[in-house]
Amino acid sequence: MNAIPLHLGTPLTRDPSVDHEIQRITGGLTDAETCNTDLAAGPWEFDSRPGYGPGSSMGDVIPAGAPRQGELPAAYREASEDELHDRIVAAKAALGERVVVLGHFYQREEVVRHADYVGDSFQLAKAAKAHPEAEAIVFCGVHFMAETADLLSGSDQAVILPNLAAGCSMADMANIDQVEECWEQLEDVYGPLDAADADGLVPVIPVTYMNSSAAIKGFVGRHGGIVCTSSNARTVLEWAFARGRRVLFFPDQHLGRNTAKAMGVPLEQMPMWNPNRPLGGNAEAELDDARVILWHGFCSVHRRFTVDQIEKARAEHPGVRVIVHPECPMPVVDAADEAGSTDYIRKAIQAATEPTTFAIGTEVNLVQRLAAEHPQHNIFCLDPVVCPCSTMYRIHPGYLAWVLESLAGSPTGTGTAVNRITVPADVAEPARLALERMLAAKPSPQVTA
Ligand code: SF4
Repeated sequence: MNAIPLHLGTPLTRDPSVDHEIQRITGGLTDAETCNTDLAAGPWEFDSRPGYGPGSSMGDVIPAGAPRQGELPAAYREASEDELHDRIVAAKAALGERVVVLGHFYQREEVVRHADYVGDSFQLAKAAKAHPEAEAIVFCGVHFMAETADLLSGSDQAVILPNLAAGCSMADMANIDQVEECWEQLEDVYGPLDAADADGLVPVIPVTYMNSSAAIKGFVGRHGGIVCTSSNARTVLEWAFARGRRVLFFPDQHLGRNTAKAMGVPLEQMPMWNPNRPLGGNAEAELDDARVILWHGFCSVHRRFTVDQIEKARAEHPGVRVIVHPECPMPVVDAADEAGSTDYIRKAIQAATEPTTFAIGTEVNLVQRLAAEHPQHNIFCLDPVVCPCSTMYRIHPGYLAWVLESLAGSPTGTGTAVNRITVPADVAEPARLALERMLAAKPSPQVTA
C-alpha cells in the first residue's frame, strides 16, 4: 500500500481536468451540470466566507476554531494557468530535494501533476516519512492529512498545507470536546471504561477513521484505541473486538456500518451517537446491547451517491461493473458490485484485462484521472453532476506556487515555510500510539482466506 511516485504513472490520453470541465460548463460549452458554478472561481473568492465553499460540502459549518487562510497575493490570484505551472516547476527545480510535494487522489489535476507522490492520506504520510532529507513536505490534501504527515515525519521537517482553509467536513463533525463528553456519558452507562471484565474485555474501545483530527487520534491513543483506514477497517474492528465488548466508531457512520455489517454485526446493535443529544439520542438499553456505536458523521461527497444512480448505470450499460467507496451509504454499497478504498478501486481497474465499463462511486477528480489513464475502458462517475470535494478544491495551483516560491525564497529572496501544520507534542505522542497499533494489527486468517 505505497503511494505512487508520479513519474511512474501512466501517460494520460485525454484531459482529466475537472476544473476545465467546470469552466466549460459555466461557459455554456457543454450540457453537463456542476453542483455549483462558483467552483469555476478561484478559491480566494470564498476563502473568507464562513463555510467550506461551493460544492458538495456547502451545507456544512466550519468549526469556530478552524484555521483561516489569509489573502493570497495578487500575483498568484491573477496569474494564468500556464504561468502558475511554469512558476511551480521553476520553484520545485530550485528547491530540489529540499522539498517533497504530495498530492491526494482527490486533488485537482493542475496540482497533482506537480506531485512527487500521489495516493490516499496514509500512503502519502508514509511517503513523507520515506524522505527524511526533505526539509519541507508540501501536502496537497486537507488539514487532517497534513497533521498525520507531521505525526509521521521528522520534527525538523516542516509540513505545509498550501491553503489553510482546506479542511474536511467529515473530520470536523467529531470535535474533541464532543468526543470527551460522549466518553463521560458512556462511563455513566457502562461504569469505568478502563476496567476489564472476567473475559478480559473493557466496555468500549474507541476507533477513529484516519479522516479525523490529530486531537481525536490522540484521544483514541490515550484510551486504548486505534486508528483505521478504509483499507483496513475490518482488521481494525477485529482488533478492537478482541479487546472490548463494543466499539465507539468515529467520525464516519457509513464506513463503520458497512464494515461491521459485512462482519455480521446486526444493524440493531449499531446505534448512532448524535453529539447534540443526551446519550447520543439513545436509551440506555440500546447502548447496553450495542456492538458498534456509530458517530453521526459522513462525507458530503460520498453521500451524493444513490441506488438510483446505480440502477440507471445498469440500465444504460449492461454488464457495467459498479465499484463504490465504503464512505457511501449502506444501500449504495449493498447495490454495488464491489466496495473498496481508493487504492482498491485503482487496483481493480488496473487489473481488468478485458475492456470493461466501470461506474465508480468516489470523488470525481480520481474518476476522471482513472478514465484518462485507462482509455481501453469506459470509466465514469456514478454521479452525473460534476461535484468535486470542495475542501480539497481549495488547493489551487496559485496556493501551491505561493508556498513553493516562499520556501525557495523567490521572488522575495526570504525563504519561509508558510502555512506550517504542527501537532502539539502532548497530542502527537498518544496519536502516534494509535497509529502504531493500527500498523501492528494483522488480519485474521478467515479475512485473508
Ligand atoms: S472527500 Fe469527504 S472525507 Fe475526503 S476530504 Fe473531502 S469531505 Fe473529507
